[in-house]
Amino acid sequence: MPLKQFDIPEASHLIEGAWIRGHAPIQVTNPSDGALLTNIARGTADDVDAAVAAAQKSRDGDWGRMTALERGRILTRLGILVLNHREALAKLEAMDVGKPLTQARADVVALARYMEFYGGAADKITGETIPYLDGYTVYTLREPHGVTGHIIPWNYPMQIIGRSVGAALAMGNACVLKPAEDACLTAMAFAALAMQAGLPAGALNVVTGLGAEAGAALAAHPGVQHMSFTGSVRTGEAIQAAAARNVIPVTLELGGKSPQLVFDDADLNRALPFLVNAGIQNAGQTCSASSRILVHRGVYDEVRDRMAAAYRDLKVGPAMDDLNLGPLISPRQKEIVEGFLARGADLTIVARGEIVTDAPGHYVPPTLFADVPRDHVLARDEIFGPVQVIIPFDDEAEALRIANGTDYGLVASIWTRDGGRQMRLAKALRSGQVFINNYGAGGGVELPFGGVGKSGHGREKGFEALYGFSTLKTVAAWHG
Ligand code: ADP
Repeated sequence: MPLKQFDIPEASHLIEGAWIRGHAPIQVTNPSDGALLTNIARGTADDVDAAVAAAQKSRDGDWGRMTALERGRILTRLGILVLNHREALAKLEAMDVGKPLTQARADVVALARYMEFYGGAADKITGETIPYLDGYTVYTLREPHGVTGHIIPWNYPMQIIGRSVGAALAMGNACVLKPAEDACLTAMAFAALAMQAGLPAGALNVVTGLGAEAGAALAAHPGVQHMSFTGSVRTGEAIQAAAARNVIPVTLELGGKSPQLVFDDADLNRALPFLVNAGIQNAGQTCSASSRILVHRGVYDEVRDRMAAAYRDLKVGPAMDDLNLGPLISPRQKEIVEGFLARGADLTIVARGEIVTDAPGHYVPPTLFADVPRDHVLARDEIFGPVQVIIPFDDEAEALRIANGTDYGLVASIWTRDGGRQMRLAKALRSGQVFINNYGAGGGVELPFGGVGKSGHGREKGFEALYGFSTLKTVAAWHG
């Protein structure tokens, strides 16, 4: 039972600082070999009720009265605890998500960085004074929403907890977290460490279980004052609809079809590793994965051939073997990705990586397609697997049309030495983040992150997240 090392009993929720045994356990398996890892509790609407009540109680009590400085200190301590448990957390994440150990280790460091960043930021969010009519003093107060709900996916549990729960706690909200049924073990370990760091009971509650049950109950709960969600567009729509009925704000971080635009004056030696890694990191199960590589015809053959060579070297195997890629999270995800590959049967595959294990995990080879028509389903839809398409373009205007031609807008990158082109495209790209001569899939604790269009709305990471996890009160005092 992998959570024993964190003193977490099997199949339980964290409610008001105590691990409470839940109902009807769900089996959690290791995607690298199908072995049973543990059981988690299948949270019910009653469990969610209890968690929301505990959160509200802590807002009304110890947690709500704590100064920003003290909140920051707890988060900073929590960051240190995370680093002290670096190897244990990395192994847990690798086993649960199937990501290669090196990537899981990087996620632990990112989680610690979020705690450091938001621990330091907690007492640096201020209001302002506003010049107004004669005889008045007007100022603003940044206040927490109250109880915040957090529904997170299985691909980067630690990083997404860091950026959403970290920022929400820094502002003084009390959180109810519903991690994904496919991978929730580090969420529970993190909550146990938060208790050790001195977080008051009820400030962070964790209810595990299924999306349609515990998740839907949390999204619809009238005691929740803000919802943040990272996951699929379909579930994001359901969460926004549920939140609308309670008229509460939502932050949605959904999918992407993020492009990299490679011009004929680009530094290809620098670009190459970014072009490939941004597509295959975490086996392509990354919201900000770069799945479209748009290449100027002047360097098209060279980029295609060099990417193909890199793909042929990619090795796929169990997370603990720490290769380039691990398995996909579940049989269902594998089926989805294989479905897309089948729909690409009419296209040119230029290279594939190699599966180097016989283990019964959910493995698919990373696959690189070239000469893909821009309106092909593989060039439009999010695949959420290790699949990249290369699309040629003739000039800047065409590159921009293709880049902006999907429903999504999460991340984009521009590879060119031309400063004017960098600035023009950075403005014109319909995207929440634009990288120039680099690409940051998933990284950047300090960098506001979020999408436009079907990639969602609201911003996480950086200081911007603290504004999202708070509400502004204007105080206008007449004193004559
Ligand atoms: P995926 O299909 O890749 O698992 P989802 O967007 O469905 O992605 O899942 C992300 C998170 O949303 C998970 O924690 C899941 O349990 C949760 N979830 C799924 N369906 C719902 C729903 N109807 N209401 C609330 N949460 C949900």
